[in-house]
Amino acid sequence: MADVLFPVSLDQALDLLAKTEAPAVLAGGTDLLVQVRQGKKTPGIFVSLDRIEGAQEILETETEIIIRAGAPLARIMAHPAIRDHGSVLAQALAVLGSPQIRNMGTLGGNIMTASPAGDSLPPLYALDARVQLAGPEGFRRMPVRDFIQGPGKTALAPGEILWQANFTKPAPGTCHWFEKVGQRTALSISMVSLAALFRPDPDGRVSKVSLAWGSVGPTIVESPETETFLLNKPLTREVLAGAGDLARQAVRPISDIRATADFRRQVAGNLLMRLETPAKGKRLTRY
Ligand SMILES: Cc1cc2nc3c(=O)[nH]c(=O)nc-3n(C[C@H](O)[C@H](O)[C@H](O)COP(=O)(O)OP(=O)(O)OC[C@H]3O[C@@H](n4cnc5c(N)ncnc54)[C@H](O)[C@@H]3O)c2cc1C
Repeated sequence: MADVLFPVSLDQALDLLAKTEAPAVLAGGTDLLVQVRQGKKTPGIFVSLDRIEGAQEILETETEIIIRAGAPLARIMAHPAIRDHGSVLAQALAVLGSPQIRNMGTLGGNIMTASPAGDSLPPLYALDARVQLAGPEGFRRMPVRDFIQGPGKTALAPGEILWQANFTKPAPGTCHWFEKVGQRTALSISMVSLAALFRPDPDGRVSKVSLAWGSVGPTIVESPETETFLLNKPLTREVLAGAGDLARQAVRPISDIRATADFRRQVAGNLLMRLETPAKGKRLTRY
């Protein structure tokens, strides 16, 4: 196996990426090391994020939440600021892999795998999150939905490091919901998932809604038609059933070993029916 380098600053890490042969950024290794063992990746050297100052921080400003790429999933999920302002993400991370995977795996690693089944991605899309990339020329920023370009494909250029993801705190009163359907309840890759953020007015009508589905297309699927349909309506069973029909038209699922395309399409619409319960105020979030 290749050597592992442990830079202590971001500048040092970028320098190593520029000067070494076939480097690979190593975060938690839960994905990368599996690929190396299977012979799918053969890095010349690993550049670890482990000792880089600030690479694991979770920060809260008056308006924003900032999660550094090297932050372990378990820490993000348990962080009070994430529970308060990004519960949809905390809910998703709570059902990602196992405790061991959540302790080792990082948000940056999950984003970088760019899998349509990557559990952090639907919440990050629904939160309208942005990413910040560090490279030899400095930082560049873009929405996460532009950063993810296809299965396993991102806009990261050679020599760059994904440094952080950030999102604006949703307005008070916003409901957060994440649900993943897998083949079993634990340690399961999603067959379909839904992240939803919505804000009901005092009369129960929805004034803002943001939806993102996982595992039903080559990347995360959003449906502006479904969101527009829901606006200014109460989340009754009838309204949500209508939204479900639109969602089924928006998704582009495939059949694979986990589920058929028809099943995924049906469930993508059905998951919207869950939003009725939180809209009634019985359980606004899971945390
Ligand atoms: C048993 C098991 C169960 C799993 N279950 C799930 C699940 O339920 N849901 C799910 O979404 N995933 C799951 N995974 C996949 C994986 O654990 C996650 O995607 C995890 O978040 C990857 O993070 P990591 O820090 O381990 O990434 P790594 O393995 O270290 O890296 C993954 C890739 O991203 C690159 N990379 C990492 N960080 C950066 C960075 N900051 N900048 C640039 N490149 C970077 C690496 O070079 C590598 O190519 C599972 C994996 C295993 C082994």
